Amino acid sequence: MNLQDFWNETLSQLKADMDEGEFSFVFSSLQFESSTGSKITLSVPSAFFREQLKGKYLGILEEKLQDLTGQKIEFAFSLRKQEAPAKVEAPLPADDSQGESKKAAKPTVRKAHPQLNPDYTLENYIVGKNNEFAYSCAVSISKDPGNAYNPFFLYGGVGLGKTHLIQALGNAIHKNNEKSVVTYLPAESFVNEFLSSLQNKTQSAFKNKYRNVDVLLIDDIHDLQNKKDTQEELFNTFNALYEAKKQLVFTSDRPPQELKAFAERLLSRLTRGIIADLQLPTWETRLVILRTKMASKGMKLSDAVLELVAKNVSTNIRDLEAALNKIWAYGELLNREITIEVAHEQLKSVFAGPSQQNIAIDLVQRVVAEAYNLGVQDLKGKKRTQAITLPRQIAMYLIRELTEYSTTEVGMEFGGRDHTTVMHAVQKIEDKVRTEPSFEIKVQNLIRTVRDRAGS
Ligand code: ADP
Ligand code: MG
Repeated sequence: MNLQDFWNETLSQLKADMDEGEFSFVFSSLQFESSTGSKITLSVPSAFFREQLKGKYLGILEEKLQDLTGQKIEFAFSLRKQEAPAKVEAPLPADDSQGESKKAAKPTVRKAHPQLNPDYTLENYIVGKNNEFAYSCAVSISKDPGNAYNPFFLYGGVGLGKTHLIQALGNAIHKNNEKSVVTYLPAESFVNEFLSSLQNKTQSAFKNKYRNVDVLLIDDIHDLQNKKDTQEELFNTFNALYEAKKQLVFTSDRPPQELKAFAERLLSRLTRGIIADLQLPTWETRLVILRTKMASKGMKLSDAVLELVAKNVSTNIRDLEAALNKIWAYGELLNREITIEVAHEQLKSVFAGPSQQNIAIDLVQRVVAEAYNLGVQDLKGKKRTQAITLPRQIAMYLIRELTEYSTTEVGMEFGGRDHTTVMHAVQKIEDKVRTEPSFEIKVQNLIRTVRDRAGS
């Protein structure tokens, strides 16, 4: 029995049953290697890919082959070594001979995208086990927007690289497709624009704007929780774009099933394509990140110092960068060499402090907002009613209590408020805690909730 023929038949049947984009993503990376008796060996690009495949498609493959051959077929997998991490797949237009010839004929370099940070690229996104799958999805999409994977739902905790990856994807598409209209925005801006379009009676302009794009990238979709009308609007936008085979990408700080107060039908749309998550990098990957960031910023630190940082700062990539910047700045400022001891001293607060416990500003904001039945946007916004001001001040106070962020940094995270506003808030809450026992209990409860959530 030649199993290769059965394998080919299996693929053509699956192709007919499955979504085209999904099919090509999964099965173009999978190669028939050999077969003996009732066993087929397939080669896969990575262990991660193999696990995903086993989890999601192995059952279907076995079933189809059993139908076709009338016997149970086993599968074995081999890793294709030469084809190292997904990194190789990154679009590198400068090295791409096809791209070069096109360019030579018509030398156009598209202007940088106005909404996207040019520093966020696929090329400088460091790939490890923690983000390999998400990264490969982004690379595939960048090569064939609208067809590879649609929509793409990317989730992961704070500082793990969601904004970097979604913007890098946008930059790549923008750069390689001269006519593509790429629109990126945080979900919060989508809410604000939608609401002001209602107020100013410019709904049709709003609709036109978002329904005439080729790629819609919405960051931090969790900010749409509780925003019923905006969700409805996004639902309609989604349908229009999806029908027209336009690429949609969403990020969230939590998995879809944990999104609260989210319309079921919208959620099922957002998650009908591919879902990928970003995990914490392992310490080896953290070291690679530190080395790379150091080199790109022209810093020089010893391996021993970098290892110290990589081992001790395990919360997320943003904290890792902050730690690196902190010790480097210290050395520069005092014109001192950064020894292990100096680094240790400088990072003491980071190591011992609660940020080790992964407490991030937006976690605190979320906990406080939820406790007071508000949205995080309310805390960051301009309104100064008592119902919002007090929770806002509590959130500022908790962040100062629980994290190492400076008053300036905290102010920035509250709609760009001045650091003196933060200091005033902290003072006010301190006084209130001292004088009102019931308030103190409330604050303690909030602290516990934040710590629990950060720890989980
Ligand atoms: P999030 O949006 O998930 O909170 P960001 O995308 O803002 O996280 O990432 C925080 C910082 O870490 C940014 O400076 C970003 O460039 C950097 N970063 C995150 N992931 C990576 C990565 N894989 N490679 C290089 N830098 C990264
Ligand atoms: Mg982000």
